[in-house]
Amino acid sequence: MDRYRRQKLFTPLGDGGQRRLQTGKALVVGCGALGGTIANLLVRAGIGSVGLMDHDIVEVVNLHRQLLFNERDLGRRKVDAARDILLAADSRADIETFPYRFDESTAPLLSRFDLLIDGTDNFPTRFLMNRTAIRYGKPFITAGVRGSSGQIFTVFPGQTPCLACLIPPTDEGHGGEFPILSPIVQVIAAIEVSEAIKILSGNENAVNRSLLVVDLWTNKISSLEFVRNENCSVCGGSL
Ligand SMILES: [Zn+2]
Repeated sequence: MDRYRRQKLFTPLGDGGQRRLQTGKALVVGCGALGGTIANLLVRAGIGSVGLMDHDIVEVVNLHRQLLFNERDLGRRKVDAARDILLAADSRADIETFPYRFDESTAPLLSRFDLLIDGTDNFPTRFLMNRTAIRYGKPFITAGVRGSSGQIFTVFPGQTPCLACLIPPTDEGHGGEFPILSPIVQVIAAIEVSEAIKILSGNENAVNRSLLVVDLWTNKISSLEFVRNENCSVCGGSL
Protein backbone atom coordinates (compact mmCIF):
# COMPACT_ATOMS: atom_id res chain seq x y z
CA MET A 1 0.00 0.00 0.00
CA ASP A 2 1.26 3.46 -0.82
CA ARG A 3 1.11 5.52 2.38
CA TYR A 4 1.03 8.81 0.46
CA ARG A 5 -1.50 7.84 -2.23
CA ARG A 6 -4.13 10.42 -1.27
CA GLN A 7 -1.53 13.17 -0.91
CA LYS A 8 -0.09 12.40 -4.35
CA LEU A 9 -3.59 12.64 -5.85
CA PHE A 10 -3.38 16.35 -5.03
CA THR A 11 -2.30 17.53 -8.48
CA PRO A 12 0.15 20.31 -7.52
CA LEU A 13 2.14 17.67 -5.63
CA GLY A 14 1.77 14.46 -7.62
CA ASP A 15 4.48 11.78 -7.66
CA GLY A 16 7.24 14.30 -8.34
CA GLY A 17 6.30 16.61 -5.47
CA GLN A 18 6.07 13.69 -3.07
CA ARG A 19 9.51 12.47 -4.12
CA ARG A 20 10.93 15.92 -3.45
CA LEU A 21 9.25 16.05 -0.03
CA GLN A 22 10.93 12.76 0.82
CA THR A 23 14.36 14.33 0.28
CA GLY A 24 13.52 17.57 2.15
CA LYS A 25 15.03 18.47 5.51
CA ALA A 26 13.20 20.75 7.95
CA LEU A 27 14.40 22.09 11.31
CA VAL A 28 11.57 22.83 13.74
CA VAL A 29 12.53 25.02 16.70
CA GLY A 30 10.17 24.59 19.63
CA CYS A 31 8.42 21.29 20.24
CA GLY A 32 5.42 22.50 22.22
CA ALA A 33 2.03 23.60 20.96
CA LEU A 34 2.99 24.90 17.51
CA GLY A 35 6.13 22.78 17.10
CA GLY A 36 4.53 19.50 18.16
CA THR A 37 1.73 19.83 15.64
CA ILE A 38 4.17 21.00 12.97
CA ALA A 39 6.40 17.96 13.58
CA ASN A 40 3.41 15.60 13.53
CA LEU A 41 2.14 16.94 10.20
CA LEU A 42 5.63 17.03 8.61
CA VAL A 43 6.45 13.45 9.54
CA ARG A 44 3.06 12.13 8.40
CA ALA A 45 3.44 14.02 5.09
CA GLY A 46 6.67 12.13 4.46
CA ILE A 47 9.26 14.91 4.85
CA GLY A 48 12.65 13.22 4.43
CA SER A 49 14.26 14.45 7.61
CA VAL A 50 12.82 16.42 10.53
CA GLY A 51 14.97 18.05 13.22
CA LEU A 52 13.30 18.93 16.53
CA MET A 53 14.92 21.40 18.91
CA ASP A 54 13.55 22.12 22.40
CA HIS A 55 15.19 22.07 25.84
CA ASP A 56 11.92 21.83 27.79
CA ILE A 57 10.08 18.99 29.55
CA VAL A 58 6.39 18.09 29.36
CA GLU A 59 4.27 19.64 32.13
CA VAL A 60 0.58 19.19 32.88
CA VAL A 61 -0.11 22.84 31.99
CA ASN A 62 1.01 22.01 28.42
CA LEU A 63 -1.57 19.32 27.77
CA HIS A 64 -4.56 21.51 26.86
CA ARG A 65 -2.86 22.56 23.62
CA GLN A 66 0.22 20.38 23.00
CA LEU A 67 -1.49 17.52 21.22
CA LEU A 68 1.54 15.28 20.77
CA PHE A 69 1.79 14.65 24.52
CA ASN A 70 -0.20 12.69 27.06
CA GLU A 71 -0.12 12.32 30.85
CA ARG A 72 2.37 9.46 30.60
CA ASP A 73 4.89 11.91 29.08
CA LEU A 74 4.91 14.25 32.10
CA GLY A 75 8.48 14.99 33.14
CA ARG A 76 10.04 13.71 29.90
CA ARG A 77 11.96 15.87 27.48
CA LYS A 78 9.55 17.11 24.86
CA VAL A 79 11.84 16.08 21.99
CA ASP A 80 12.14 12.53 23.34
CA ALA A 81 8.39 12.11 23.88
CA ALA A 82 7.72 13.61 20.43
CA ARG A 83 10.21 11.29 18.75
CA ASP A 84 8.59 8.18 20.28
CA ILE A 85 5.12 9.25 19.20
CA LEU A 86 6.23 10.17 15.68
CA LEU A 87 8.12 6.90 15.21
CA ALA A 88 4.96 5.06 16.27
CA ALA A 89 3.21 6.87 13.40
CA ASP A 90 6.00 6.12 10.91
CA SER A 91 8.74 3.76 12.01
CA ARG A 92 10.90 4.71 9.00
CA ALA A 93 10.81 8.44 9.72
CA ASP A 94 14.15 10.22 10.08
CA ILE A 95 13.78 12.34 13.23
CA GLU A 96 16.78 14.02 14.79
CA THR A 97 16.35 15.49 18.27
CA PHE A 98 18.26 18.41 19.76
CA PRO A 99 17.43 18.90 23.48
CA TYR A 100 18.84 22.41 23.50
CA ARG A 101 17.79 26.01 23.31
CA PHE A 102 18.15 27.69 19.94
CA ASP A 103 20.99 30.11 20.70
CA GLU A 104 24.18 31.38 19.10
CA SER A 105 25.92 28.05 19.72
CA THR A 106 23.17 25.77 18.32
CA ALA A 107 21.95 28.05 15.49
CA PRO A 108 24.61 26.78 13.00
CA LEU A 109 22.80 23.39 12.97
CA LEU A 110 20.51 25.07 10.43
CA SER A 111 23.23 24.64 7.80
CA ARG A 112 22.28 20.92 7.63
CA PHE A 113 18.62 21.63 6.79
CA ASP A 114 16.71 23.14 3.85
CA LEU A 115 14.17 25.10 5.85
CA LEU A 116 13.64 26.65 9.31
CA ILE A 117 10.21 26.53 10.97
CA ASP A 118 9.17 28.57 14.00
CA GLY A 119 7.38 26.70 16.78
CA THR A 120 8.59 28.99 19.56
CA ASP A 121 6.69 31.24 21.93
CA ASN A 122 9.05 34.19 22.29
CA PHE A 123 10.48 37.01 20.23
CA PRO A 124 14.16 36.84 21.21
CA THR A 125 14.39 33.27 19.83
CA ARG A 126 12.33 34.20 16.79
CA PHE A 127 14.63 37.12 15.96
CA LEU A 128 17.71 34.91 16.34
CA MET A 129 16.05 32.39 14.00
CA ASN A 130 15.43 35.23 11.53
CA ARG A 131 19.08 36.34 11.64
CA THR A 132 20.25 32.74 11.27
CA ALA A 133 17.99 32.09 8.27
CA ILE A 134 19.31 35.23 6.56
CA ARG A 135 22.92 34.22 7.36
CA TYR A 136 22.52 30.73 5.87
CA GLY A 137 20.15 31.74 3.08
CA LYS A 138 17.41 29.29 4.15
CA PRO A 139 13.66 29.97 3.96
CA PHE A 140 12.15 30.73 7.38
CA ILE A 141 8.49 30.18 8.22
CA THR A 142 7.72 32.25 11.31
CA ALA A 143 4.51 32.40 13.30
CA GLY A 144 3.15 33.30 16.70
CA VAL A 145 -0.07 32.83 18.63
CA ARG A 146 -1.63 34.69 21.53
CA GLY A 147 -5.16 34.46 22.85
CA SER A 148 -7.42 33.58 19.91
CA SER A 149 -5.20 35.08 17.24
CA GLY A 150 -2.13 34.08 15.29
CA GLN A 151 0.17 35.46 12.60
CA ILE A 152 2.30 33.74 10.02
CA PHE A 153 4.92 35.03 7.60
CA THR A 154 7.50 33.35 5.37
CA VAL A 155 10.94 34.87 4.83
CA PHE A 156 12.86 34.04 1.64
CA PRO A 157 16.33 35.49 2.18
CA GLY A 158 17.25 37.78 -0.67
CA GLN A 159 13.66 37.93 -1.99
CA THR A 160 11.22 39.07 0.70
CA PRO A 161 11.23 41.31 3.78
CA CYS A 162 12.58 39.56 6.87
CA LEU A 163 10.96 39.47 10.30
CA ALA A 164 13.05 42.45 11.42
CA CYS A 165 11.70 44.48 8.46
CA LEU A 166 8.20 43.97 9.93
CA ILE A 167 8.85 44.38 13.66
CA PRO A 168 11.77 46.06 15.44
CA PRO A 169 14.00 43.31 16.92
CA THR A 170 13.83 42.92 20.68
CA ASP A 171 15.79 40.95 23.24
CA GLU A 172 12.88 41.08 25.67
CA GLY A 173 10.73 38.02 26.30
CA HIS A 174 6.96 37.90 26.43
CA GLY A 175 6.92 38.76 30.13
CA GLY A 176 5.49 35.55 31.57
CA GLU A 177 2.46 33.44 30.79
CA PHE A 178 0.09 34.71 28.14
CA PRO A 179 -3.38 33.42 27.24
CA ILE A 180 -3.89 30.79 24.52
CA LEU A 181 -7.12 29.43 23.06
CA SER A 182 -5.91 26.02 21.92
CA PRO A 183 -7.60 25.80 18.45
CA ILE A 184 -5.62 28.79 17.11
CA VAL A 185 -2.43 26.81 17.66
CA GLN A 186 -3.62 24.03 15.38
CA VAL A 187 -4.77 26.48 12.70
CA ILE A 188 -1.47 28.36 12.60
CA ALA A 189 0.67 25.20 12.80
CA ALA A 190 -1.30 23.70 9.91
CA ILE A 191 -0.71 26.81 7.78
CA GLU A 192 3.02 26.71 8.59
CA VAL A 193 3.17 23.09 7.40
CA SER A 194 1.25 23.92 4.21
CA GLU A 195 3.89 26.53 3.41
CA ALA A 196 6.65 24.05 4.25
CA ILE A 197 5.14 21.45 1.91
CA LYS A 198 5.00 24.03 -0.88
CA ILE A 199 8.65 24.96 -0.40
CA LEU A 200 10.01 21.43 -0.02
CA SER A 201 8.01 20.10 -2.97
CA GLY A 202 9.29 22.81 -5.32
CA ASN A 203 6.12 24.93 -5.29
CA GLU A 204 7.60 28.10 -3.76
CA ASN A 205 5.48 30.28 -6.03
CA ALA A 206 2.37 29.16 -4.11
CA VAL A 207 3.70 30.48 -0.77
CA ASN A 208 1.87 33.49 0.68
CA ARG A 209 4.19 36.53 0.52
CA SER A 210 2.16 38.67 2.94
CA LEU A 211 1.62 38.55 6.71
CA LEU A 212 -1.47 36.46 7.41
CA VAL A 213 -3.41 37.24 10.60
CA VAL A 214 -6.18 34.92 11.83
CA ASP A 215 -8.45 35.55 14.82
CA LEU A 216 -10.80 32.71 15.73
CA TRP A 217 -12.80 34.79 18.25
CA THR A 218 -13.57 37.79 16.06
CA ASN A 219 -13.76 35.56 12.94
CA LYS A 220 -11.37 37.74 10.98
CA ILE A 221 -8.67 36.70 8.54
CA SER A 222 -6.51 39.45 7.09
CA SER A 223 -3.51 39.65 4.85
CA LEU A 224 -1.06 42.54 5.33
CA GLU A 225 1.47 43.52 2.67
CA PHE A 226 4.94 44.58 3.76
CA VAL A 227 7.92 45.91 1.89
CA ARG A 228 11.54 45.45 2.74
CA ASN A 229 13.07 48.01 5.08
CA GLU A 230 16.15 49.12 3.18
CA ASN A 231 17.77 50.09 6.49
CA CYS A 232 16.94 46.73 8.12
CA SER A 233 19.74 45.78 10.51
CA VAL A 234 19.39 42.09 9.54
CA CYS A 235 18.69 41.82 5.81
CA GLY A 236 19.41 45.38 4.66
CA GLY A 237 22.82 44.54 3.28
CA SER A 238 21.96 41.11 1.93
CA LEU A 239 19.40 41.96 -0.76
ZN1 LIG B 1 14.94 42.72 7.11
